[in-house]
Amino acid sequence: MPKPELEKVQVKKLRQIVKKAYSNNKFYHDLYKKHNINPGDIKKLEDIQKLPFLEKKTVRTAYPYGTALVPREQILELHTTSGTTGKPTPCFATEKDIDYWGELNARELWMTGIRPGDVLLNSYGYGLPTGGFGFHYGALKMGCMVIPKGTGETVRQIQLILDFGVTAVCMTPSYAIYIGQKAKEDGINIARKSKLRIGLFGAEPWSMAVRNNIEKLFGITAYDEYGMTEFLGPGQGCECSERDGMHTWADAFILECIDPKTGEWVDEGEPGELVWTWISADGTGVIRYRSRDLSSVWWDKKCKCGRTHPKFAAVKGRTDDSVSIGGFIVYPSQVEEVLMRHREIGANFRMVIENVKGLDKLTVKAEVQDKKVVKDKTKSAKLAKALQTELKSVIGLKSVIELVPPDTLPRSEAGESKTATHRVEDRRK
Ligand SMILES: [Zn+2]
Repeated sequence: MPKPELEKVQVKKLRQIVKKAYSNNKFYHDLYKKHNINPGDIKKLEDIQKLPFLEKKTVRTAYPYGTALVPREQILELHTTSGTTGKPTPCFATEKDIDYWGELNARELWMTGIRPGDVLLNSYGYGLPTGGFGFHYGALKMGCMVIPKGTGETVRQIQLILDFGVTAVCMTPSYAIYIGQKAKEDGINIARKSKLRIGLFGAEPWSMAVRNNIEKLFGITAYDEYGMTEFLGPGQGCECSERDGMHTWADAFILECIDPKTGEWVDEGEPGELVWTWISADGTGVIRYRSRDLSSVWWDKKCKCGRTHPKFAAVKGRTDDSVSIGGFIVYPSQVEEVLMRHREIGANFRMVIENVKGLDKLTVKAEVQDKKVVKDKTKSAKLAKALQTELKSVIGLKSVIELVPPDTLPRSEAGESKTATHRVEDRRK
């Protein structure tokens, strides 16, 4: 469908969901009353800007069932965020939602080249956060075999890939690196020994260097995908064959990009924060939800893959992930990008921020691949110097680089989504 047609669908669905939320749900009714909004005020797409943003903290006040748009008896599945920073945010799926969810995920698997008859190893967690279930339902819908492995048991993951003719995998990029390195250590060449062709990776920002590394370790083409548990997770966006931004699904979501400070729309393609509205939802109202994810949004007239759905860029970080160090705003993903350019550096690093005599000091501790690098003083000093110079050109700030042996820094659980809290140790607080 060309853009104007898709937008017509979006306006129609937006009007319906706002009306449903206003009429059936006390949380939305009170919220819109407070902001003087009547569902009839929404006539065109731009009118979405009249609606107030939802934030994690606002949604929390509706916990537990406050954002449900249907009677409890119609809800078939409950998912929630991990709730590491407070009460978890629930998502209620009806039969219609689960069906649509499977459909969106099937589109994404198809878009990356997976076809009926493929064998998908699903190493996302099967649990309250939605990671595993989305692709599972998508695979079933398409008619491709899925192995619901979930996270952990790295040796078993490798075994499944080799023994059952797995052709595609999905998991977090950091877990992929972990599995790939483990196989390499054990003398197994997955790229050569397996039937793998395709991988879908998401749930955390990953650099181009990490992508190249995964592709080499597994002998696959790697695709970026996106999902938030508040919207049932996977199925919100994925790269197509062009791998130039992810397509989101205009019939299911309205995706806005705002200036995080002013809340105003930024121009098409300009950086900003993603704001999602779930217009195809049946069980849960999530209207104008601030994701905190930094990206950009644009509509290609027609992507080379043939799809007309809008696109958004890989997530560069989160508005609440950044740390201010000596007046510079630094994202852990920027540091990772620089570190991963060097093959001597391993998968794990940590940023330590201290205040020394009134001045902020950043120390980047980075694990090396081989402990010999640390022992060779000349080599390690040269590498640290190079990293310091490169890092300064990216973040604007001079830092101290400390190279440490492999497996010496705290590691997030394998397969668990990696947030900045694992990367940043702020001793100023
Ligand atoms: Zn495309």
